[in-house]
Amino acid sequence: MIRFERPDPPSWMTEEWQRERGEKLAKNEKPFRWPTVDKLRVNLHLVPILKSASANHCAYCDGHPLGTQSRETIDHFRPKETFQELAFTWSNLFLCCDVCQQSKSSKFSESWLKPDETDYDFEDHFFCDIASGRLVPLTERAEKTISAFDLNNPELTTDRIHRRRDYLNASDEDDRILNDFPYRFFVDA
Ligand SMILES: [Zn+2]
Repeated sequence: MIRFERPDPPSWMTEEWQRERGEKLAKNEKPFRWPTVDKLRVNLHLVPILKSASANHCAYCDGHPLGTQSRETIDHFRPKETFQELAFTWSNLFLCCDVCQQSKSSKFSESWLKPDETDYDFEDHFFCDIASGRLVPLTERAEKTISAFDLNNPELTTDRIHRRRDYLNASDEDDRILNDFPYRFFVDA
């Protein structure tokens, strides 16, 4: 979970639009659907913006690249099932891989870390155990976040080790661009 700077939403996505859409959903009790703006579904407007902010990495596990190994899904940090009024709130939307979305599902806790928090820094909360591929929590919030997103599942820990090796073995500097790798906090640790 690497910190990212949240960019501005599209100009039509005003605070008023966000609030009105959320209130409408909460009131109608209809299942959630992305509406269409300018003939394009809202999620398709938002994905490219979030992608450029995270260099196409999952906001939670830092998996990369999204779109080939995983769908480009938008996660509602505060789940849309419980917080319907926040279903269209820009600050509640994160680009996320299928695996993280499944692990998190419709759970939510205020104590989870959020990668766009202004004072969030990976190193304040996590330590990378290079040998095991595991993230060691340094704070209670980190511990809860690892558990919620299943950030130490065996597939992930193995893949972290492999991808770190690829990163370190890349002989050519052109092949060693951190943003081209998943788990940037780990491959560069
Ligand atoms: Zn993920």
